Amino acid sequence: MDKKYQLFINGKWVDALSGKTFKSINPATGEVNAVVAEAGAEDVDLAVKAARQAFESGPWANMAPGDRGRLLYKVAQALWEKADMLATIESTDNGLPINETKHIAMPAMIDVLEFYAGLANKVQGATLASPSDRLNYTLKEPIGVIGAIVPWNFPLMLTMWKLAPALAAGNTIVIKPAEQTPVSILEMVKIFHEVGIPDGVINVVPGYGSVAGEALSSHSDIDKIAFTGSTNTGRLIMQSASKNLKPVSLELGGKSPNIVFDDANLENAVNGSMFGIFFAQGQVCASGTRLFVQESIYDKFMDSFVNKIQSIRVGNPLDQLTQMGPQVSQQQLEQIQRYVAVGLEQGANLVTGGERNLKAGNGYYFTPTVFDNVTNEMTIAREEIFGPVISVIRFKDEEDALRKANDTIYGLAAGVWTNDIKRGHRMARGLKTGTVWVNTYSLLDSAAPFGGKKQSGFGRELGLEAMDMYTSTKHVWVDLNEQGLNWYGV
Ligand code: NAD
Repeated sequence: MDKKYQLFINGKWVDALSGKTFKSINPATGEVNAVVAEAGAEDVDLAVKAARQAFESGPWANMAPGDRGRLLYKVAQALWEKADMLATIESTDNGLPINETKHIAMPAMIDVLEFYAGLANKVQGATLASPSDRLNYTLKEPIGVIGAIVPWNFPLMLTMWKLAPALAAGNTIVIKPAEQTPVSILEMVKIFHEVGIPDGVINVVPGYGSVAGEALSSHSDIDKIAFTGSTNTGRLIMQSASKNLKPVSLELGGKSPNIVFDDANLENAVNGSMFGIFFAQGQVCASGTRLFVQESIYDKFMDSFVNKIQSIRVGNPLDQLTQMGPQVSQQQLEQIQRYVAVGLEQGANLVTGGERNLKAGNGYYFTPTVFDNVTNEMTIAREEIFGPVISVIRFKDEEDALRKANDTIYGLAAGVWTNDIKRGHRMARGLKTGTVWVNTYSLLDSAAPFGGKKQSGFGRELGLEAMDMYTSTKHVWVDLNEQGLNWYGV
């Protein structure tokens, strides 16, 4: 029998008021993984009311920051205990290979919670320089009720990037998971609740973007929207949020350049570039999808790169040996197939892959795909494919690489492979992206701010900077002068 999940509002599991449900599909089989209550605007409204109530009064509002931190730390310990179970659920929900969920996504996600648990009692305002007859200081306060809208590629990790700093700072939250992957988030929130996070502090409203997502981003009692998803949806979110001028942070798409110079350690560059594109089936916002290879090593690099790619094991995400699982959905599979056709039409050379992988199973499997002879002007080098497809582009020298790398509407991340330390730093300065990896790719750290420039969004998640996104600054001016303010002299 299919598993059934409800909405989580005010500490209770409830059906949608409409009684509607939707199906969450297992991408490895195309079969139903779970049936989930489908939130409508009226459910979102109830969730926002519960979050407001919990923010304004009750145990959460009155909890000392140190106690909040300890509670979050206890949740982190419970998550470690259940990490394998969560990894299996996440892999079943979205197709990530179990090796990646178990050894990368879960530890990274829990580390984020621990990082912010430790920061809960370190939020500080400042005493400002003032004349002797007055006192000026700032208070760093929680913003209020946060609306978090997350995508399907790393449901738990990308939720935690918002949930952990939001709670550490004392906010409450309403989470809208992606319609493709609600299950792992509901299971994780259950653990938060079991450990003792008070009712109403975390609410989850699975449902469709155009309904539940829209209701959340336009809701007049939401104080901030934290969004991760596509650039197009980011635009819609900004429009909805403009109704009550709530602040938004947007982590959006990318078309990240990964640049290999001829002085790089070739083997490391080949291995790292493979991880940079095929990790999570290419469904990573920061994937190094435009691979720039210097002309002088082009053939040598490509021989080794393509050879290794052809040995990637595509298959059942729950198999420990699998290196690439299925794409998340039929829709995503078709999007990739369309882009492959466009690449061929525009004259790119398909070196390997390019087709659905039916040998791996009936799910949405695709073969790791490499196009070369790509120019930066081709559609496959300009638009986000969000699948295991890499476009390889030649470059002459540093100047040429930088110009081509920056010639994109996106600015999320970039990679540089070189053994010349000066060149590495010069490139890091010149690349117009939020992150630059030198001699590695796709690595994240809870302490390192992550986010985009240009149409990859704004705001920084992770690190100390994320705490700024979940606090607001209040200035307090105290007049110490006995005479007070008597401008009119009356
Ligand atoms: P998406 O934009 O389609 O959906 C993301 C979320 O937004 C989902 O929960 C969806 O239901 C919701 N949504 C859709 N329409 C909405 C609307 N009108 N109003 C409110 N909410 C709405 O993106 P996706 O396909 O789920 O995810 C893939 C995209 O996410 C890619 O573009 C990828 O680059 C991006 N992404 C970015 C980062 C980052 O940190 N920059 C991380 C992961 C994914």
